[in-house]
Amino acid sequence: PDLVAHARAGLRSRFRAALNATGVVVHTNMGRSVLAKEAREAVITAATGYCNLELDMQSGGRGSRHALVEDLLCRLTGAEAALVVNNNAAAVLLVLDTFCKGGEVVVSRGELVEIGGSFRIPEVMEKSGATLREVGATNRTHLHDYSAAINENTRALMRVHTSNYRIVGFHSAVPLPELAELARQHDLPLIEDLGSGSLTDFSSCGLPDEPTVPSVLAQGADIATFSGDKVLGGPQAGIIAGRKDMI
Ligand SMILES: *Cc1c(COP(=O)(O)O)cnc(C)c1O
Repeated sequence: PDLVAHARAGLRSRFRAALNATGVVVHTNMGRSVLAKEAREAVITAATGYCNLELDMQSGGRGSRHALVEDLLCRLTGAEAALVVNNNAAAVLLVLDTFCKGGEVVVSRGELVEIGGSFRIPEVMEKSGATLREVGATNRTHLHDYSAAINENTRALMRVHTSNYRIVGFHSAVPLPELAELARQHDLPLIEDLGSGSLTDFSSCGLPDEPTVPSVLAQGADIATFSGDKVLGGPQAGIIAGRKDMI
């Protein structure tokens, strides 16, 4: 009987429905966003039979899976182009690897974020082959801190959204348009890791003011990265949106 019980236990699904009583709506330990009914139905449709994931219906040849969502993401974010990857951590790693490998990336000391243990800006930076050039202080970073750090090895300026903490009190950060102007003057890309990547301003519903993807791109970020399964409410994904030549 022990052997049978052991075999049964081994065959049981590892997934269990759980009751989220934490007060955190989008909880990383509990599958993050719950999919909307329409999204669940779309998953079932896509998974039940064959589909045109990489089939060009016009030519019958190989298509691009990216083409299926790119125009929708552009409409939602105002970006010229967009790409979907495994998750936002992968999005950040790929962006740094592509544009910054072997060079320096300037980031404020107030934004050296850790997200749930496995994602830390300094470690992602190291893995990408880029060197982190920290500037400013934990609570205050000024435009001249960024400009003083720019040299011939600089590959990008980067801003990271402090998703899970706030610095309050004697605090200042450089407004995005000013940083974007500095990046433009030096012909450097400005990369923004938004984390949740809200598409709508929810402050009218009484929620805290969060930067939105469209506003960040409109204010001059060249590339924005964000999660598909945080505020956006989709499946696990990372989204890279921004300038067409860079995407
Ligand atoms: C959540 C988050 C990430 C990691 O995103 P995943 O989708 O978990 O890979 C990276 N940067 C910031 C600022 C985040 O909030």
